[in-house]
Amino acid sequence: MRDEEATGTQVCVLTPEARGAVAVLRVWGPSALTLVAKLFRPARRRSLATTPPGRPRLGRLGAGLGDEVVAVVVSDAVGSVEVEIHCHGGAAAVDLVIEALETGGAKRNLPIAGMRNTLETEAYDELARAPTLRVAEILLEQAQGALSREVAEIVRLIGFDQRNAFACLDLLIERARIGLRLVGGWSVVLAGRPNVGKSRLLNTLAGYARSIVDPRPGTTRDVVTMRTAFDGWPVELADTAGLRDAEEALESAGIRLARERQAAADLTILVLDRSEPLTAFDWDYLVGLRGGLVVANKADLPAAWDVDELEDAVLVSAERGDGLDRLVEVAAKRLVEEPSGPGEGVPFRATHLRRLEEARGALKAGDARGALKVLAWFSG
Ligand code: GDP
Repeated sequence: MRDEEATGTQVCVLTPEARGAVAVLRVWGPSALTLVAKLFRPARRRSLATTPPGRPRLGRLGAGLGDEVVAVVVSDAVGSVEVEIHCHGGAAAVDLVIEALETGGAKRNLPIAGMRNTLETEAYDELARAPTLRVAEILLEQAQGALSREVAEIVRLIGFDQRNAFACLDLLIERARIGLRLVGGWSVVLAGRPNVGKSRLLNTLAGYARSIVDPRPGTTRDVVTMRTAFDGWPVELADTAGLRDAEEALESAGIRLARERQAAADLTILVLDRSEPLTAFDWDYLVGLRGGLVVANKADLPAAWDVDELEDAVLVSAERGDGLDRLVEVAAKRLVEEPSGPGEGVPFRATHLRRLEEARGALKAGDARGALKVLAWFSG
């Protein structure tokens, strides 16, 4: 039991300490809303105190300029009013907001057990590792019940409309394809013969996505990798560096190695040099490229061939940056054909997917009771 009268207003950080795009703070106690409303400087005039529960408000909080935060008034099951503050994930931003709340009279505390169900806890854990704002937004919605609400609807449907229950289950299972990549990201490989500009493109693309929280160059054996984002989707971009050595790459063993790597990737971007005639090796790559994306690089130099000759090829200059918008847009669409909409449930852990598939299997076998039992986990 929370003894709010005795403990006064309290604040805790719900997200675990890690480097993420967003941190979430919870303020509770009898004067929680009054205190936050006093400190919160809304972007639009209306005070937080008169904002209906569940509606996010953008504003600033903290000494000086403060941090840009989103505040949401939450009323829990027993009707007590709490405020959730989403600020930037860095320690400095969190300290700034907590300091302001402490100065206002709140006491820092640890999250109270039972404040969240298991699914919410998992969402906050993932949120702390969210590499981009787009990912943080989706995870935040899951932390606020998007997935559990959709599963609750499926549970309701199982009673009287199993066809619809199946359809909703299938939709969630499909969305897990996005959900399971939110934190780890999608793997994208740059392929092509030496000197077409792969390494240059890798670096340009890595610098291009400013939305990434933690751009990290790294080398994994003979592969140079870079964390970046395409349209807010985190991506690990790999250049087959070990194959950059001309002789090795020209050997079929080298090409075979590159192909193996491509097979394991979510997307292969084949880089060609438009300033030189296509070679037998380029064609070799083109023939082996199933479902990949073709990029004609060095658009700043005189053309040796017409880009229209190759269907759907994107013309870029890694040197000058021309065409990168389009490349990123096309690549993002290839990775995520149908992004989830605002407020939609997205299963984000392999265990969620497994449970949903298990429930589907049970339902298919006519075991509605079994399906309900598996789905009960989602409501914690
Ligand atoms: P890689 O072997 O495929 O990784 O190719 P690199 O990235 O090392 O590039 C090979 C050469 O092409 C380097 O001298 C680059 O500076 C140059 N290069 C790469 N991209 C462009 C481009 O868009 N325009 C021009 N003019 N040169 C480029």
